[in-house]
Amino acid sequence: MKLDPNAAAIIACPERTLEVSIPVKMDDGTTKVFTGYRSQHSTIMGPAKGGIRYHQSVNMDEVKTLAFWMTCKCAVANLPYGGGKGGIIVDPSKLSQAELERLTRGYIDRIAPIIGEKMDIPAPDMNTNAQIMGWMMDEYSKLKGQYEPGFITGKPICIGGSLGRTAATGRGVMVAAGEAIKAMGIKPEEATCAVQGFGNVGSWTAKLIHDLGVKIVALSDVYGAIMNEDGLDPYEVEKHVQATGSVVNFPGSKAISNADLLAMEVTVLAPCAMELQITKDNAADVKAKIIVEGANGPTTPEADEILDKNGILVVPDILANGGGVTVSYFEWVQCLYRYFWTEEEVIDKQTQLMIGAFKQVYDTAKKYEVNMRTAAYIVALNRLDEAMKFRGAY
Ligand code: NAD
Repeated sequence: MKLDPNAAAIIACPERTLEVSIPVKMDDGTTKVFTGYRSQHSTIMGPAKGGIRYHQSVNMDEVKTLAFWMTCKCAVANLPYGGGKGGIIVDPSKLSQAELERLTRGYIDRIAPIIGEKMDIPAPDMNTNAQIMGWMMDEYSKLKGQYEPGFITGKPICIGGSLGRTAATGRGVMVAAGEAIKAMGIKPEEATCAVQGFGNVGSWTAKLIHDLGVKIVALSDVYGAIMNEDGLDPYEVEKHVQATGSVVNFPGSKAISNADLLAMEVTVLAPCAMELQITKDNAADVKAKIIVEGANGPTTPEADEILDKNGILVVPDILANGGGVTVSYFEWVQCLYRYFWTEEEVIDKQTQLMIGAFKQVYDTAKKYEVNMRTAAYIVALNRLDEAMKFRGAY
């Protein structure tokens, strides 16, 4: 794409990264100080946008990297946003609900000067949920002295959340998978699919790909994997998970390992669990025709090269899992004008946007004779570069 080196130099660095210390009164009377971060990689296309992660391994470099991915993800989907990300170094399972609430409010107090509906709009990420977004919205509204639902997304519906947000990432993965199948000239009823991970993204991906008419032949979670060549009904598997806590031992299924699942001969493999799952050690075993990345960063760069050589079409994370931030964008729009859409409207708008983004990346891959990951970055960086030129950034 011959990106201008001045543009590349700007994009290589986050605009701003803030580190904060958050003192929290613990239930036992002691005070513990937690470390948190918020990084705004880019605000060239609009306010920064990205989730907040609570995890013991959060660190500044990870937050900066995730913020860069958000810039690219928003640019691929052509949303009027830059990229941001935040996090707190904490294992939330070790905190009581009251401690978690105090930590959450303390974090917002500390990062308040750099966030806001026109500056930087947070959302949930690993180990944060609608309840936590509700506390954040409440704390920020108190600081501002007015109701501020537009400063954060992923909220409960009753305080400005959007219908269709819970299923949105999985729905986007389904749309990307459907478009990839179509591009390869395969009919959904002739296709099979294996999904790694059965959490928010994986379970919705499996259910909606099943609804498309594709046979789901394998599913997994952190406890193990299951398969059935005749097809698994993910709605029934979900009931089993609700009753037992895992997909394992689903009646009529055969137990396999997560490694077996990744190596299955299927039309679509959807890694929807976590990063670094397909590596140089197992990429050569992958027999899927298409990989649709529901998770962030499930494939390493070395694995990418092997998959490429083997002719496997990889629909990259910054395109495939952009459905979540797309509906977050819809939530923000609805909050700004205080008028809320029906679920059908949200689904329809999301589907059209995702189909358009897929087509643009697919056509770019053909034009530049590159894989879809490189094409997605070309689309994103071109948009950023164009905006930087018009804004006089270099
Ligand atoms: P989640 O916690 O709801 O689900 C994760 C699932 O993966 C669980 O079923 C867990 O048991 C399973 N899992 C964990 N380790 C595994 C392993 N080694 N093998 C197999 N399964 C394993 O999380 P989520 O929200 O569904 O997010 C999944 C991925 O999608 C993450 O990479 C996340 O960053 C990405 N993502 C999520 C969203 C969203 O809207 N939730 C949006 C974009 C990207």
